[in-house]
Amino acid sequence: MTPNPNQNFTHEEEVEDWTKPSGVLFESDVTTDDGALSTYTGEFKQAQAWKRPLVWGNIIIFTVTHLASLYGGYLLFTDTKPATMLFAFVMYCLGMLGITAGAHRLWSHRSFKAKWPARLFLAILNCISFQDSIYYWVRDHRMHHKYSETDADPHNTSRGFFYSHIGWLLVRKHPDVTIKGKGLDLSDLHADPIVMFQHKYYYYLMPLGCFILPTLIPWLCWNETLASSYFVAAMFRWCVQLNMTWMVNSSAHAWGGKPYDKGMNPSQNSFVSLMTFGEGWHNYHHVFPWDYRTAEWGGYTLSHATLLIDLFAKIGWAYDLKTVTPEMIKKRSQRTGDGTHELYGEKVVPSVAKKIM
Ligand SMILES: [Zn+2]
Ligand SMILES: [Zn+2]
Repeated sequence: MTPNPNQNFTHEEEVEDWTKPSGVLFESDVTTDDGALSTYTGEFKQAQAWKRPLVWGNIIIFTVTHLASLYGGYLLFTDTKPATMLFAFVMYCLGMLGITAGAHRLWSHRSFKAKWPARLFLAILNCISFQDSIYYWVRDHRMHHKYSETDADPHNTSRGFFYSHIGWLLVRKHPDVTIKGKGLDLSDLHADPIVMFQHKYYYYLMPLGCFILPTLIPWLCWNETLASSYFVAAMFRWCVQLNMTWMVNSSAHAWGGKPYDKGMNPSQNSFVSLMTFGEGWHNYHHVFPWDYRTAEWGGYTLSHATLLIDLFAKIGWAYDLKTVTPEMIKKRSQRTGDGTHELYGEKVVPSVAKKIM
């Protein structure tokens, strides 16, 4: 990164061209000495009137999925063996790590480098959570950061909670997502044979990881009923996994403090962090997306993905782990934060995250 200390922008001169990227995506995007773009991003938020063509296939699939998972929730409390409950929980954890440590921190933001055994492991885990191939996930996520909260952001929060949670999957993409997406650099993904293999064979690998094995293992290994195996370990677990991940786009863009930048919607949300293994420190993450921890506080307790990456680093599978210096955090927090930062803010509030770091 080459910081430019001369970029002290003011609110007036900043906003004229909303077609510019509105958010930092990688460390290399930063153009100020405290981790920001040299343009002010707060005014880029917009949601122009747009006739949204419905995608009926997805509407039906997600309706059926949620109904099936409700039945799975009923079976969980009435007719499921403890071994199956534990198995579903483990599958939840593994699938979530495939998203957080894999698709998000490794492939979307390149916040650390990983040798092939780690990439293969994460690509396998990624199939368990069925959120599309790593390639498509990263493409959407890079658009989310680069054009954050504009019409080119696939789950643009400016269109409301429901849209940013699941609504964006029920309608065709806004034309700006496609138009601006053409300029997105995905060459690093094309150069990764594991990502491209997973992408090419996704619709063979994903059903195995998300539905077939989670159903067969409890049924065959400890004589669970086929209904509980399928509706609890596959459908219920998958649906909760989906909704918790979507909460990063909805809840963590709506509720929580903004100690690093009050000019954006992403917020510090500990519940979302707990459920997604560390992705709820979203104000921090949108300000410093290249930090492999996606958080300043919280340690391993509220970021199990960080624990996994550190374990990888210990055995030599991960290296070049990127973080942010305390000086940069301090500078940015004092300039654009909402005053709730645990160390630098004037409106200090008791923080669970800081206490358990
Ligand atoms: Zn976000
Ligand atoms: Zn991100």
